[in-house]
Amino acid sequence: MSSSSLLDVSALADSVSCRVIVPGDSDYDSARAGFNGMIDKRPAAIVLIASDADAAAAIAFARQHDLPLAIRSGGHSAPGHGCCDDGIVIDCRDLQLAEVDDKTNTVRVGSGLTWKQFDAATQAHGLAVTGGRVSSTGVTGLTIGSGSGWLERAMGLTSDSLSGARVVTAAGVSLDTDDDPELLWALRGGGGNFGVVTELRFQLRRLGPTVHGGKRFYPIERGVEVLSAFRDVMMAAPKELCGGLAFLTAPPAPWVPEGVRGKAVVAIIVVWAGDPNEGTAAMAKLEALGEPLVDHIGQVDYAELQQVMDPGAPAGHRDYFKGGFMHNLSDEAVREIVALGEDMRAPLTQIICAPLGAHTTYATVGEDHSAIGHRDEEWSFQVLSLWADAAQDAEQKGWTRAAAERMSSYSDMVSYPNFLTADEAADVEAAYSPTAMARLRAVKDRLDPDNVFRINNNIAPSGSLTRGDVPPAAGSPDSYAVSA
Ligand SMILES: Cc1cc2nc3c(=O)[nH]c(=O)nc-3n(C[C@H](O)[C@H](O)[C@H](O)COP(=O)(O)OP(=O)(O)OC[C@H]3O[C@@H](n4cnc5c(N)ncnc54)[C@H](O)[C@@H]3O)c2cc1C
Repeated sequence: MSSSSLLDVSALADSVSCRVIVPGDSDYDSARAGFNGMIDKRPAAIVLIASDADAAAAIAFARQHDLPLAIRSGGHSAPGHGCCDDGIVIDCRDLQLAEVDDKTNTVRVGSGLTWKQFDAATQAHGLAVTGGRVSSTGVTGLTIGSGSGWLERAMGLTSDSLSGARVVTAAGVSLDTDDDPELLWALRGGGGNFGVVTELRFQLRRLGPTVHGGKRFYPIERGVEVLSAFRDVMMAAPKELCGGLAFLTAPPAPWVPEGVRGKAVVAIIVVWAGDPNEGTAAMAKLEALGEPLVDHIGQVDYAELQQVMDPGAPAGHRDYFKGGFMHNLSDEAVREIVALGEDMRAPLTQIICAPLGAHTTYATVGEDHSAIGHRDEEWSFQVLSLWADAAQDAEQKGWTRAAAERMSSYSDMVSYPNFLTADEAADVEAAYSPTAMARLRAVKDRLDPDNVFRINNNIAPSGSLTRGDVPPAAGSPDSYAVSA
């Protein structure tokens, strides 16, 4: 019998104004499930918070009973950080506020929104921010863990546009970042380490609802030629030419000709984020990529374009990610990525190459604004393995790790926090510069010295660290190691 079934959560249910789901409830299994089918955790209670007071009560209960505490918004965490065994899950899904102010081009959202809901609300006003590439992903987890998306060349990472938030701390206090600018800085990439985010505010930019953009597919046999040409076009293009290139299996969608469905292809996804009158001319440079198998570039609905990868990302599949940056995309790196694209072992696995570049908004964001560095890198890439069958877990994870190993000749394989997976706990330190990590740790020490919020890419508070247990991270003489 698990300890969760022995715990009396009636006091918790009495202390909140919202629903608490417990083992045995008809929706317990659906409520504890996240995107990644490999994660099978059984919490003692899932608290569907409706207010800051509910979050504070759930935190207090978890602390009082010394229980693990997880926070969930969109449920897409690959390592399953949105759930826990035998503890309390604070589930933000019901926080559905979406209030756009088109005088200031800002939006105030509850932390339960997915990107599909966010885009629907903001596109109604012709406004956007860099959003996730799969529309079912949660706005909150993606934003506070960095936020890479098609628009990042023009608009920066999602977290770069975060202009405010409300957070319930480990002490149960509601803090607004207007009163704590250092917390706002930490939330731009420092993840769920500082408290339960109940509301987010973003500075938006004019874009859509119709944009010049779309997708084209090319045969994988032309991978080296297409990726090289895409690199040359994107590195010379203005920052308003946004998008990425993906190795994937053509889906059985109505817009894919029958002979192409199920075939390995190189896809480009592009969006012109500048003056709509200049979109056609900007896209003309892409003709250098030659004749496509599928050609869907023109005037498209931005919100629909944001859902173009959705058919390749069904919830409940098993996923495992590796990612990194490339300072430049050399011809050798192009050949290696294409070889990996040709070698992908599961039909839903993808490799995404995202152009950044020196003259982009992404590159201009400094450490004074964001906890996320890597702003001088020209490319990021992610190997996103997705498969259905549990029997393939070892093989698929092994292939993904081997892919990362092969790419390590061209990349330091340091990733955005959002693409860290469970076996990479040590890499959390490497995801930030030593200066940013020290600053994040200072916020953690102030707001969560007992590490109540530790089921995440954890920034351990100083009190739980000892000097010298492991060698310090490169370039960081003052690095600490987490004590066992
Ligand atoms: C199919 C798929 C596509 C993806 N695409 C992208 C992409 O395009 N760009 C990108 O950058 N990332 C992407 N990711 C990674 C994704 O951004 C992270 O997994 C992110 O954590 C998911 O956020 P969530 O709210 O959906 O997840 P959850 O599992 O709900 O939360 C993950 C973690 O975020 C923190 N968190 C969530 N909500 C709160 C809150 N209210 N308060 C405090 N902390 C909170 C917690 O630490 C929590 O454990 C993708 C992941 C998947 C599975």
